[in-house]
Amino acid sequence: MFGYLEKTIEDILKGSGSGIDRDVYLPSRVSIGMYTKDEDFLEKKILDTTFGLGWHRVYIATGRKNGFTADVAEKVKDYLEESGLEVYIFYNPESPPTHTTIAALNDLINKNKVDGVIGLGGGSSIDLAKAAAYKKTKRKERDYQRIISCPTSTAHDGVASDRASILVNDNEGNLIRKTIQTKLPIAVIADIPHIISEAPYKMNMSGVGDIISNYTAAKDWELASKNRNFKDKVKYGETLSKASKMLSYVIIQATLKLPRRINGYVYDDNSYSIDRKFLRLLLLSEVASSVIMSIAGSSLPASGAEHNFSHVLDQTYPEKSTYHGEQVGVVVPTMVLLHSRNWNRYNPFFVPGKIKGVLQKVGLATSAEELGLTDKQGLELLLSAREFKKKEKYTILQEKNPHQIEKAAIKAGFIKN
Ligand SMILES: [Zn+2]
Repeated sequence: MFGYLEKTIEDILKGSGSGIDRDVYLPSRVSIGMYTKDEDFLEKKILDTTFGLGWHRVYIATGRKNGFTADVAEKVKDYLEESGLEVYIFYNPESPPTHTTIAALNDLINKNKVDGVIGLGGGSSIDLAKAAAYKKTKRKERDYQRIISCPTSTAHDGVASDRASILVNDNEGNLIRKTIQTKLPIAVIADIPHIISEAPYKMNMSGVGDIISNYTAAKDWELASKNRNFKDKVKYGETLSKASKMLSYVIIQATLKLPRRINGYVYDDNSYSIDRKFLRLLLLSEVASSVIMSIAGSSLPASGAEHNFSHVLDQTYPEKSTYHGEQVGVVVPTMVLLHSRNWNRYNPFFVPGKIKGVLQKVGLATSAEELGLTDKQGLELLLSAREFKKKEKYTILQEKNPHQIEKAAIKAGFIKN
C-alpha cells in the first residue's frame, strides 16, 4: 500500500546528487507567525532556538543603521541580552555584500568566539550571514549550520537556501556578482503581521515572480538532463522537478484567488487579513523551493533561463536593476512559449497569458518597456542570456535560434513587433 510513497522517496533520493555520500541539509525549524498578536513573537522564537542550539554569543547581520529593520535588530538584541546572551549587531547597507565585508564579519565572528549568526533583513543581510558564518565553519566544524534566517520580506527564495549572492573582484579589479555555496540556515523565523507586512508591497510581491519561475527552471533542468553534452553533469530528479513546478502552480492559483488589491486589508470569514495568509503561503513556498534545491544539490530546480536573463540584466544595466523576482518573472511567459513544442498547444495550466495576468495582478513588470528598457535592449538581453554560462548550464534558449526567441518574445508581449 505504500508502493507509491516509497517510489516518491526513492526518486527524491535518486535526485539528490551523488546519493548516500552527499549530506542533505534542511532547516530544523520553520516558524512563521501569521495569527500572532504577540509583538515579541520573533524575539521569543529566536531566543528559544538559540537556547536549543546552545548558542551563547551571536551576531546579528542586518542592513543600514537606521530605519525599521534596524529597530527590529535592536529589539532582538535587547531581548536576547536580557536572557543572558552576548549579542553584537553588524550593520551593512551593501546589496549584495562584498567579499571584504564578509571577511570583516568573519574576523569578528572568530575574534569574539561567536556561536552563530542571525541574518535579519532582506536577501543581502541573510546572504551576508550565510557567507560570513560559512567561512568560519569551513575552517573548523565545516558541517555545522550556524545561521538563523529572519527575513523581513517575501522577496525571493534565498531566505532559506544554501547559496549566497555576493560581490567579488574579477581579474581587472571590478566588482562582479557571484553565487557561492554556503550552508542552509538551521532555522527560518518570520513574523508576518508585525514585520513582513511592513515591507513595501512590490518587494513582497516580487517573490511571486521568483516562485512562478520554478516552472520554467524545472523544465530547463529536465531539458539539460536529456542533452547529450549535459546529461552526465546534471543530476535530474523527476519528483523534485515536479515538486518545484507544483510550487509555481500553488502560487499562480493563490494569486488568481486574491481580491484585486490585497493591501486594502480585505478580510476573510474568520477576520484574518487575506494578504497575511497569502504572504505566509508565499514564504512557505520559498522555504520549500530552498529545500528542493538543497536535496537536489543544485540550484537548477529553481534557476533556469529566466535567471540567466536576470543575471545579464544586472551586469549590463545595473542602473535598471529592480527586484530579483520581477527580473526573472518578466520573461517567464516567453520561456513558457519556447518550451511548448507546438506554440498552439500549451500545458493547459501554464499558459503564457495566464502567467502574465498573474504578474500584472501583483504589480510586476511583464515587458521590457516596463523594466525601463527599449525593445532592442530587451531582445539583446535575451540573446545574451542564451550565451550566459553556456558551458555550465543548458536552457531552452540554447535550443532555439535568435529568430525563434524574438518571435516568442513578441508573442508573449515582452517586446513589440
Ligand atoms: Zn531566484
